[in-house]
Amino acid sequence: MRRLWRRVARRATDCSAELTRRGCLVLAPHPDDETLGCGGLVIHKRAAGQQVQVAVVTDGAATGAANMTREGIVTLRAREAVAACARLDVAEDHVQFLGFPDGALGAHAAALEDRIVSLVAELSPPEIFVCALGDGHRDHVALAQAVRNLHAQGRLGGAAVWEYPVWFWDFRSWRPEKASNKAGFIAGLRKAGQAARNLNAVAVDIKDLKQRKREALACHRSQIGGLEGAHSWNGLPPSFLDFFFHDRELFFKLDAQAARNPQ
Ligand SMILES: [Zn+2]
Repeated sequence: MRRLWRRVARRATDCSAELTRRGCLVLAPHPDDETLGCGGLVIHKRAAGQQVQVAVVTDGAATGAANMTREGIVTLRAREAVAACARLDVAEDHVQFLGFPDGALGAHAAALEDRIVSLVAELSPPEIFVCALGDGHRDHVALAQAVRNLHAQGRLGGAAVWEYPVWFWDFRSWRPEKASNKAGFIAGLRKAGQAARNLNAVAVDIKDLKQRKREALACHRSQIGGLEGAHSWNGLPPSFLDFFFHDRELFFKLDAQAARNPQ
């Protein structure tokens, strides 16, 4: 996947100046995606005096822990997201939690689209940043697809749409399901390479902002292995986190054509 990153990064044009010029709405499928995918960009925008709104779409309850109730996890993850956003200079009243069930977003597609439309009507963001359709994770796919549908239908108030990759950098997003054999490996490589070729990738320089981005991510303690008694989740592995601390954050520009023709 490092090769995939380098391949996408090599072709990405630097849009640091262009992308700090306007405010935005960041749609994060889970608490932590806002920081992983666009933490550096958000710091840039805030430093330039732009408004940034964050909407966390699911409740994050899938991070199970033996000694915590579901409500306890949801509250903890919301608190972590508010702390992380504060580190990115986004105040608590600019962070919303939409409360869809973690892991089952795809079952609420119509309600999700309605909620995004009303959010956009309320906030009128000039730009929207959303996770990439190529992320592979089912909640990420459901959210990216909802935004692509709305964009193709012209229901996002004319906002420019950018996707930010998260699970895109995990090979499981590309390997065909149940094919962990050599054929699956080759098919996965081919699919990832094809996606990389078709992307309209741009980059934002975050060289001087990585420390603050790390501090923001550290606020999501439950996601980096800091939750005692966690079951089914040992935290995001450091080798995966490396993808988010290169000198550049990468984004994919979505045009209405791409929205109609998913990768
Ligand atoms: Zn996520």
